[in-house]
Amino acid sequence: MSQTIVIVGGGSAGWLTAGIIAAKHQAPANGAPGTRVVLLESPDVPNLGVGEGTWPTMRDTLRRIGISEVEFLRSCDASFKQGSQFINWQQGAGESYYHPFTPPSGYGQVNLAAHWQSSATETSFDEAAGPQGRVCDNALAPKTPQTPEYAFSLNYGYHLNAGKFVELLQRHCVDKLGVEHRLGHVDRITSAENGDIAALQLTSGETIHGDFFVDCTGFTALLIGKHYGIPFVSQRHRLFNDTALAVQAEYASEDAPVASVTKATAQSAGWVWDIALPSRRGIGYVFSSEHTSVEKAEEELAAYLKADPHLAAEQPGPRKIQFQPGHRETFWHRNCVAIGVSAGFVEPLEATALILIEKSAEWVSEQLPEDKAAMPIVAKRFNDVTRQHWSAIIDFLKLHYVLTKRSDSAYWRDHCEAASIPDSLHESLTLWRTQAPWLYETNFRIELFTAASLQYVLYGMGFRTETEGDRYRQWSHEEGIAQRLMRESRQNAETLIASLPTNRDLLNRVRGNQEAEKCSVG
Ligand SMILES: Cc1cc2nc3c(=O)[nH]c(=O)nc-3n(C[C@H](O)[C@H](O)[C@H](O)COP(=O)(O)OP(=O)(O)OC[C@H]3O[C@@H](n4cnc5c(N)ncnc54)[C@H](O)[C@@H]3O)c2cc1C
Repeated sequence: MSQTIVIVGGGSAGWLTAGIIAAKHQAPANGAPGTRVVLLESPDVPNLGVGEGTWPTMRDTLRRIGISEVEFLRSCDASFKQGSQFINWQQGAGESYYHPFTPPSGYGQVNLAAHWQSSATETSFDEAAGPQGRVCDNALAPKTPQTPEYAFSLNYGYHLNAGKFVELLQRHCVDKLGVEHRLGHVDRITSAENGDIAALQLTSGETIHGDFFVDCTGFTALLIGKHYGIPFVSQRHRLFNDTALAVQAEYASEDAPVASVTKATAQSAGWVWDIALPSRRGIGYVFSSEHTSVEKAEEELAAYLKADPHLAAEQPGPRKIQFQPGHRETFWHRNCVAIGVSAGFVEPLEATALILIEKSAEWVSEQLPEDKAAMPIVAKRFNDVTRQHWSAIIDFLKLHYVLTKRSDSAYWRDHCEAASIPDSLHESLTLWRTQAPWLYETNFRIELFTAASLQYVLYGMGFRTETEGDRYRQWSHEEGIAQRLMRESRQNAETLIASLPTNRDLLNRVRGNQEAEKCSVG
């Protein structure tokens, strides 16, 4: 069936959605009608232009839409991200833990977390579970120059320049996937008799018709919010952060190390993100305006920048971004679906925005009905899945806060107030007191975070699962395997530290070496 999909918005959400839909529904070579994908963006409304940390899912997304990894790394000033490091979240005394992207050894067969708990080891959970934390301590890459594109020794996503990423996606979607790119500011929306969107009226006087519309208009939420009036569900009572100060920080020298994790350093009323690209670092303080002033936040951010010897002494002033943490009540209404910030946004902890865009666009591209009569059924299913994703995101982000021992500011004390903790997270925490998170956390086939992610954060924050009666040790066959896996983690760390290049060295090679693109990244 031939149909026209109109995507409104040319930020990361718009172009990723265009790429994912166009790659799946491109017109066949035999001239049969395919799906027409039109992306319309306003020349007057700039993109958000932040959003620089991804999950490993981005490797699949890039491959799915046909972008080579070398081209991506070069065009987007991108680097490898192997997870996140949380500094000062537990006590505020210089301590840290990792949430690496590689699941614990034996994941799926042996619940290492349970055995690690009962063996009362001195080793941190992430170190017992695998080598990635130690590799990140040394700012090493997750692979060698010989490793093929998108393959790895240790699982990884990316840090990228958001502006350059949009440029690459635009080029690729238009040149390779046949997406039609239009510039125009939507002024009015024309409805069909049944309430569907029939067309968009531009300020230029032009009319854009379509069968299905994707709202990627960012905070404007033009179609889902302004046109359809779908209510916004605030999450501010759970995740307090609503303001960010962002800086594109200069390195002190060209050979400064490029960290292979996003560093998240807790502050008095929020946390500082630190994302290392080959040519600069994206650093910002996201905080709660109810708990501190912009002036105080600027001071804390300046102190962070100043304390780092790898950063230049002078840095540009920060850009301020304000947002309402929360999401829409429903996301797909009639012939319109919202993807990206128009659908919702909460603080960038754990980089949950781009992964949700990827998952939502995939879902839409796979399930978009050919028969219009099926639209309400598909919409209901999408809304159910997306609501579950939001609930999982909120619980997962809140988990980072609720186990803190910090009481040095109202911000950290308020995060531990029972009223600010979702019932679903209360319930999970009660269960996890006696059972480590495992494969049965959800019944959903498409999940954003696995039990592995929950384990890294839970035990990184010092949580104890009391395995009464030494429940897990009774399974002696597993105990032996678990002890061996934990021993091997330490040995693997030594082997990888001796063999992996630094993140900086591998990126220099990728960026400089034109010959190697055919078979590997280096
Ligand atoms: C401080 C901060 C840090 C972040 N860090 C991360 C991170 O590390 N990882 C991550 O995954 N995400 C992160 N995010 C989220 C990420 O930035 C967004 O998910 C991403 O940029 C997608 O934005 P978008 O495309 O939905 O909206 P935008 O980039 O705002 O794009 C909106 C588009 O809509 C168009 N538009 C608006 N009105 C009209 C109109 N009337 N007519 C036509 N077009 C219109 C605009 O021209 C623009 O092209 C962060 C966000 C913030 C605020």
